[in-house]
Amino acid sequence: MFANRLVPILVWIATAFTTVQGARAEVPRENFGKTADGKAVEIFTLKNPAGMIARVMTRGATLVELHVPDRDGKFADVVLGFDDVSGYESDRNQYFGCTTGRVCNRIAKGRFTLAGKEYELAINNPPNHLHGGAERSLDKVLWEAEPFEGKSTRGVRFRYTSPDGEEGYPGTLKLLVTYTLQDDNALRIDYEATTDKATPVNLTNHAYFNLSGHGAETVLDHVLQIAADRYTPADDTLIPTGEIEPVEGTPLDFRKPTVIGERIEQLTDTAALGYDHNFVLNNSEGTLAVAAVLREPKSGRVLTLLTTDIGLQLYSGNFLTGQTGKGGRTYKHRSAVCLEDQHHPDSVNHPEFPSTVIKPGPPYRKTALYKFTTEK
Ligand code: BGC
Repeated sequence: MFANRLVPILVWIATAFTTVQGARAEVPRENFGKTADGKAVEIFTLKNPAGMIARVMTRGATLVELHVPDRDGKFADVVLGFDDVSGYESDRNQYFGCTTGRVCNRIAKGRFTLAGKEYELAINNPPNHLHGGAERSLDKVLWEAEPFEGKSTRGVRFRYTSPDGEEGYPGTLKLLVTYTLQDDNALRIDYEATTDKATPVNLTNHAYFNLSGHGAETVLDHVLQIAADRYTPADDTLIPTGEIEPVEGTPLDFRKPTVIGERIEQLTDTAALGYDHNFVLNNSEGTLAVAAVLREPKSGRVLTLLTTDIGLQLYSGNFLTGQTGKGGRTYKHRSAVCLEDQHHPDSVNHPEFPSTVIKPGPPYRKTALYKFTTEK
């Protein structure tokens, strides 16, 4: 009697279990290894019907791999990264693919004042603070992850609560970063943050792109267009002076598609050592609009970056050292480019710039879309 009832119950449990497993199997979740202090890191594989693959991990809510087709349908992984957690923990890692913050880019002398109180942050890029700090910036912490699937999408929601005072910043900051791979070969990143005290927030993703495939010799042959008429000139430590100047007549004029290497040498002897500049995008905040188009003529791969943000840091990999990355490939000087959508650097010390300070109440929100296409 009991056995008769038990069998259907067991069958039901097994079916329910398989269904849940089956649904989850669409976004495979694997171990990526352990941090130096023994914590498990997970990696998720997002794949769309066209074969595009994005792999994202819980350390730093980081984009580890991004496989996109060329004009002949041949796939290449177009972002720099490492094969294991120890690579990401090593000094070979220069913020590859991570979620960057709480405040990306630089804060002058690691200081700011908010509501009459002075805050001091780590000076990890002397004499300034860079990318949210030295020990517990968002790229270095472990995020909780929840995979999901939609009708023509699949993705991972990463959550992290940064406690009040972490890396010297005020307020408990609750973060949600969602990666979504769409059927139309676009990778979307949605950012959300709420706080219980006024605090500066400026989030971006720090992917290094080479559309020939990571480890290719150079990015100087890529053609770039940026939807910006103006930029924020900076001092010798890459802190904005506060002025906003036209790009016209400078090597920063990317209003028309221009080969990255064409004028870069004019900037080699500057503090930036190449491109490491912040552009004022022409779009208005909150509207998802094209910020940049990056083309690699040989493969025909085209990346169109759309963002709701107001600025873009163009960084031409000037500080890459030839370190070894994924699959033993070498990441040479200027062999990748970062297109970091963000508010202007050091905004917290520049009241003339759009504010990066968020307050308790409505969340900070932004969206970036990395759309991949090909051309002849
Ligand atoms: C900065 C560079 C820095 C790089 C890696 C970029 O966002 O603008 O100056 O070297 O990140 O940390």
